[in-house]
Amino acid sequence: MLHLMPELPEVEIVCRGLAMALEGRRLTRVELRRPDLRRPFPADFAARLQGRLVVRVARRAKYLTLWLDDGWVLLGHLGMSGRMLVGPADHAPPGKHDHVRFETDDGQQVIYQDPRRFGLMDLVAGERLAEHPLLEGLGPEPLDDAFTPAVLSAALASRSGPIKTALLDQRLVAGIGNIYAVEALFRAGIAPTRMARTVAGRRAERLVPALKAVLLESIAVGGSSLRDHRRTDGELGYFQHSFAVYDREGQPCPDCRCSDGIRRIVQGGRSTFYCPKRQR
Ligand SMILES: [Zn+2]
Repeated sequence: MLHLMPELPEVEIVCRGLAMALEGRRLTRVELRRPDLRRPFPADFAARLQGRLVVRVARRAKYLTLWLDDGWVLLGHLGMSGRMLVGPADHAPPGKHDHVRFETDDGQQVIYQDPRRFGLMDLVAGERLAEHPLLEGLGPEPLDDAFTPAVLSAALASRSGPIKTALLDQRLVAGIGNIYAVEALFRAGIAPTRMARTVAGRRAERLVPALKAVLLESIAVGGSSLRDHRRTDGELGYFQHSFAVYDREGQPCPDCRCSDGIRRIVQGGRSTFYCPKRQR
């Protein structure tokens, strides 16, 4: 079974959609429909946001950050099933899973919808954002120029355990989800079971561009449809293009077409798919 949850590219697409809707806009009305998601909302959440101007919308790992004109930041995470629905303010009765509604001074609204309620929202002073317990200790952004093969192999040098598991560790690199780790290792020709500390030199030089490429390609897929469907940006981009190996157990490898096909194993409780012939 394929579980679709927001990963870095999806969060980046949501971030861009929110930036279009909210940057430079004042929050004229904020409505909260329940006291908590994964954790309680901060005290006076709606009142503290109401009237504020959104200066900037950004992303750190899989967290969204809305920078406000009073120096505070709304820190958000979509959890397993959170979506941001952007459209004209309609004041329709809220849906069962519509937990927060933000209305802006240009007559638009953003509804946060989250059936499983693993998402979260917090308010943090901007200058202390990096120290927030959820953000401190996060590794580099994979798409930053500062994330290089040398940086990755230095971080891997002291690790025990396989490379696949290491890539999912948010302290090593922030925001690489299971699908992206699996697909990048296939492209780089690296076995997911290879000891992480041996991924250096040419292997690291293949893996870093592979990670960046799978992330950028899926952002581009979602980003191209975002332009036409502003209302439903939260729904788009859930890595719709076909995977080379992910969720393809037993199927022929798209690269070497070996007869054994794609193999599935479980590492750290997560499914890994790979070609034992191509990936070493
Ligand atoms: Zn193969």
